Amino acid sequence: MQPPANLPLHPVVIIGGGNAGLSVAGRLRRQGIGDVVVIEPREQHVYAPMQSHIAGGLARASDVVRPQADVTPSGVEWIRDRVTSVSPHDDSVTLSSGAVVRYSHLIVAAGIELRWDAVAGLAEAMRTPLGISSYTHDLAAKASLALRDIREGTVVFVQPPEPATCAGVAQKPMYLANDWWRRDPRRRVRSVFVSPQSQAFRIDEISDELQRKIDEYGIETRYAHDLIEVHPESQEAVIGRGGVSETVRYDLLHAVPPQAPAAWIAESGLGDADGFVDVDERMLHHRRFDNVWALGDATAITPTRSGGGIRPQAKVLVKNLVAVVAGRKPHAVYDGYTVTPITVSRHTLVFAEFDREDRLAPTVPMWRTLFRERRLTYLLDRWVLPWVYWNLILRGRA
Ligand SMILES: Cc1cc2nc3c(=O)[nH]c(=O)nc-3n(C[C@H](O)[C@H](O)[C@H](O)COP(=O)(O)OP(=O)(O)OC[C@H]3O[C@@H](n4cnc5c(N)ncnc54)[C@H](O)[C@@H]3O)c2cc1C
Repeated sequence: MQPPANLPLHPVVIIGGGNAGLSVAGRLRRQGIGDVVVIEPREQHVYAPMQSHIAGGLARASDVVRPQADVTPSGVEWIRDRVTSVSPHDDSVTLSSGAVVRYSHLIVAAGIELRWDAVAGLAEAMRTPLGISSYTHDLAAKASLALRDIREGTVVFVQPPEPATCAGVAQKPMYLANDWWRRDPRRRVRSVFVSPQSQAFRIDEISDELQRKIDEYGIETRYAHDLIEVHPESQEAVIGRGGVSETVRYDLLHAVPPQAPAAWIAESGLGDADGFVDVDERMLHHRRFDNVWALGDATAITPTRSGGGIRPQAKVLVKNLVAVVAGRKPHAVYDGYTVTPITVSRHTLVFAEFDREDRLAPTVPMWRTLFRERRLTYLLDRWVLPWVYWNLILRGRA
């Protein structure tokens, strides 16, 4: 059914007011595009990367949350609602309230969904005092106290399978906690790291750097293992792969769930084979609909989704969209840059920057070893980037 023609037609409608959505909204406003609409249901905006620091006891839960109204760039209209479907043939989106919004250009920046129910017993385990995670704000706050106070026992840390948002950062609280525990020799805490990957990180140089820390802390590893099920009542995590499994009794379970794109993306005809928004990974333009664009976690344009990757994506998308609006051919190209910053102690970090072919791509190109464990990159991740996020990125200035 076509939307009524008397509904206002917005030049740009953005689905999602998270990292990606607000970055492009701010940039579009700065490029002189008036009437930019962001549809976002949440009232509070969370800076997700800091949740790792909360879980590891290095930041307060209140440090990472700001009212959505305060971070929405000025001049941008915020509709507080959730999109339930898109009609790309009619250039309109439908909201959970039943309202319909018409667009000339649509940008999908709706992120990726955490699927706690994809592992039997996991959602239930997270509701017990022993279930913790850096991947939600509440569970990160719970993790902070639990990891600080545990004196003995086994802590299982689980890295999620791909697709995921910045999967490697699931390791951050593990190193932060181990660095904390080793300061008190009376503690007897055993860490078990469960990862779907065959080594600490997909790229050998980064993996070696992380493995050195894993060995230093005496963390047990279970590589090429998935979390199969959890029995919260007996505090057991079943891990393994290919018919082989092991049951580990835990005193704390730090888990990150499997993740997936929202179902409405595929149902609306916007999805690729895996259900992510089907955009060209270089131009960020939809492969079938000329006036649809996407970036961030809702896409598969880079094998590792990250906020750091969104910075160049937002620049490219806005340049290309502005060119199309002006009747020019889009020519900006996203090179696939992405990043996984991993704190490996309470004052150092491994800054893994790479492209979509897994080649190292340091911000300072001549500094090939920038990824190595460093204090400098820790300071960048803990103190500089949060400031840049709130003050520049969300306003479309970086
Ligand atoms: C714990 C954690 C730590 C991380 N650490 C780092 C790090 O150190 N460095 C780094 O670069 N990256 C990191 N990341 C990844 C980074 O945070 C994400 O890549 C980034 O936030 C993705 O931005 P996005 O806008 O695509 O998605 P999001 O920021 O998730 O925003 C999506 C928005 O869309 C909204 N939305 C969803 N569905 C709908 C709908 N139907 N209608 C309207 N709105 C909708 C959501 O409410 C949300 O606000 C981390 C992620 C997590 C979870």
